[in-house]
Amino acid sequence: MPSNKSVSDAPIFQFTNCRILRSHQLQREDLWVREGKILNPEKLFFDEKGSADIQLDCKDSVIAPGFIDVQINGGFGVDFSLAVDDVQSGISLVSQKILSHGVTSFCPTLVTSPPSVYHKVLPQISIRNGGPHGAGILGAHLEGPFISKEKKGAHPEHYLSTFESGAFQDLLATYRHLDCVRIVTLAPEMKRSSEVIQELTRRGICVSLGHSVANLSQAEEAVRHGATFITHLFNAMLPFHHRDPGIVGLLTSDQIPARRRVFYGMISDGIHTNPAALRIAHRAHPKGLVLVTDAIAGMGLAPGKHTLGQQVIEVDGLNTYIAGTKTLSGSVATMDSCVRHFLEATGCTVETALEAASLHPAQLLGIEHRKGTLNYDNDADFLLLDDSLQVRATYIAGERVWSQDTFTI
Ligand SMILES: [Zn+2]
Repeated sequence: MPSNKSVSDAPIFQFTNCRILRSHQLQREDLWVREGKILNPEKLFFDEKGSADIQLDCKDSVIAPGFIDVQINGGFGVDFSLAVDDVQSGISLVSQKILSHGVTSFCPTLVTSPPSVYHKVLPQISIRNGGPHGAGILGAHLEGPFISKEKKGAHPEHYLSTFESGAFQDLLATYRHLDCVRIVTLAPEMKRSSEVIQELTRRGICVSLGHSVANLSQAEEAVRHGATFITHLFNAMLPFHHRDPGIVGLLTSDQIPARRRVFYGMISDGIHTNPAALRIAHRAHPKGLVLVTDAIAGMGLAPGKHTLGQQVIEVDGLNTYIAGTKTLSGSVATMDSCVRHFLEATGCTVETALEAASLHPAQLLGIEHRKGTLNYDNDADFLLLDDSLQVRATYIAGERVWSQDTFTI
């Protein structure tokens, strides 16, 4: 039966022999795609009297939404925090290479840098759709410089900044360009941070709490003002204390405004967080968990010395330290390996592990009506995976943009 061309001339693809992640469950259904979007087959059959033009046997793959990485500092030798003349070529290289790890869109992340770096780099970052050229760019994540000295982690102390009389104007003077900015990580205990959080939120920029010594009530106040995310939970914040659990306490706080959800990033690489801590976070607040790589330039390269903004980093296996210290600084983990580690460490379901890298980051950014699910009419950004969650093939807007050499359909 030929497909009905009254609605569209575009070919209709039917991915068969697969289990697709939909409504929080892996379901033995086919995935239908037309014009880069997920198609509702019932509408196709009954309204359009149409059918598939091309059928593809997925060889019993799991099909999941493409992964979304909201914190990635670089990879494959590229450091997004360097003020180079051609930022685009570095971003393009990373966006190409992460396709093999299942990432179909991401937020290039800049660590604390002098204002001159933001002024040079930010105008060169543009939000763009993904495709064969690489993963889509959802906007920049600026981590610092408005963070705590005590919890600076790998961020260079002499570039840290505070909000003075200008408050939001101080932030604007530092970054100068906000058009491409999607997330700002700041320490909510800084004076005048409430005004800044409100203004960023008003502009649709997600505020994340991190690199901070905030107590729980300061963190709750920041959430009331609009903050929705916690940057790499447990790392670079006060450790959980039962009388004042600090930012970590947001996971079970009863002071979160109604219908609001606080999300939290986890670097699930087996290094940054003990598996027991990962389980505590996940069991306390499963729907808020967002897997991030926090990957640095050394991701995808041999161990050795790499940069992270103004710092030199030594990579040894999965450990990444500021040279000459034991201060952890980003990771060299890939997103697919974080998903597998999360699954193994928490004993969660495959669905839960996949949603932590797709649905949850999409909800955090408020783009779940376009990405992060396989719901009808969403962008057809998806992955074919084997049962151990190794990526077999990556699709963006219905087009195959990467596949294993040995996997053909
Ligand atoms: Zn950090």
